[in-house]
Amino acid sequence: MRRLGIALLVIALVRVAAAQTGSVRPGDLLPPWSPGTLDIHQIANGGGNAAFMMFPDGTTLLLDAGDAELRPDGSRTAAQLIARYIRHMAGSDARLDYAVITHFHPDHMGAITGSEPLSTHGDYRLRGITELGETLPIARLVDRGWPDYQYLPPPANDRTFANYRRFVGENTAAGRFTMIGAQAGSTSQITPVRRPDPQLPFEVRIVAVNDRVWTGKGNETKVRFPALDSIPLREDWPNENMCSVAIRIRYGRFDYFTGGDMAGYPVPGAAAWHDEETDVARAIGPTDVQVVNHHGSLEVENPFWLATLRSRVMILPAWAATHPSPDVLKRMLSPRIYPDRRDIFVTLLRDATKAAIGERAAQVASDHGHIVVRVEPGGARYWVLVLDDAAESYRVTSVHGPYESE
Ligand SMILES: [Zn+2]
Repeated sequence: MRRLGIALLVIALVRVAAAQTGSVRPGDLLPPWSPGTLDIHQIANGGGNAAFMMFPDGTTLLLDAGDAELRPDGSRTAAQLIARYIRHMAGSDARLDYAVITHFHPDHMGAITGSEPLSTHGDYRLRGITELGETLPIARLVDRGWPDYQYLPPPANDRTFANYRRFVGENTAAGRFTMIGAQAGSTSQITPVRRPDPQLPFEVRIVAVNDRVWTGKGNETKVRFPALDSIPLREDWPNENMCSVAIRIRYGRFDYFTGGDMAGYPVPGAAAWHDEETDVARAIGPTDVQVVNHHGSLEVENPFWLATLRSRVMILPAWAATHPSPDVLKRMLSPRIYPDRRDIFVTLLRDATKAAIGERAAQVASDHGHIVVRVEPGGARYWVLVLDDAAESYRVTSVHGPYESE
């Protein structure tokens, strides 16, 4: 009886959600998140990555809070933009059940230069994730190093990382949030916490982090990098980008992948294991929506990766003029690599980048704006809505879909 009730409820929710999203027109406001829906927002904050998610039960997650651009004009910081966006979408009392820092780089956590304001909570400065933590309550913070930060820690003179460690230390000591050290293969570290329903086909899996990658079988993982002391040259060691926390979200038939700045297309002369995408592609297989690795920089999106994931939708978090590399966009668009249709959405494709890319730049589905993936209850279909990033009314500028989950 209970199952029948749930089934009828899901059918009703799908009808309401589909009717709402299908009738949205450019200029409209985004209809609010509703129970059963999975919303994933790639926020165009101009200085780094930030993705805000609302799970089907309402659990909230922020993936990265980057801020690597100087703002001499005194306009809002990236963290202010992110916090205002989240409050608009999740309510004035919004709080984050999870924040995830994929890796310790400024465009994913906020650059510290020494001129940022100090926290009222402790001896650290406010930018990116630390500034956001001052603005919105965070319950759990996931990163690649907790608790000992022993695997490839950033250099001792890295101000941003030193500031982050003080932020983590003082807030955990005060009991403001708890820390989670990401473990490859795990499906139990990030879970619905608001109204969890074990019947719901929803799962967040940590696919890779540091030197470990999930194999695709059970929770099994393997070591993907050689032991560091066996690599003679320090410049050949895995780098910070390659240690990124990578995540797969599954909702029914719908699959989404986001992998920070992991690599897949080694520069000439580099070791083969500098390609991480191939192992991850073997583990996750076809994936409806992928976030393009490392902002579409030179060393990502190899042909095997693209052909295995066969993503219908690709989201490119871009903020610098080098995002994406013309070669990478060419691979992403290539029907030789996989013949199926695909739509590419970019948070910000700068004029200089368009000039360097040429005609192909016009083949993206959207070249600026916040990008919202709205997955209908149950996960069978999803939409992509692009929102105006020039005004905080966040009006819809284009609607794409519905797409069928594969
Ligand atoms: Zn980055």
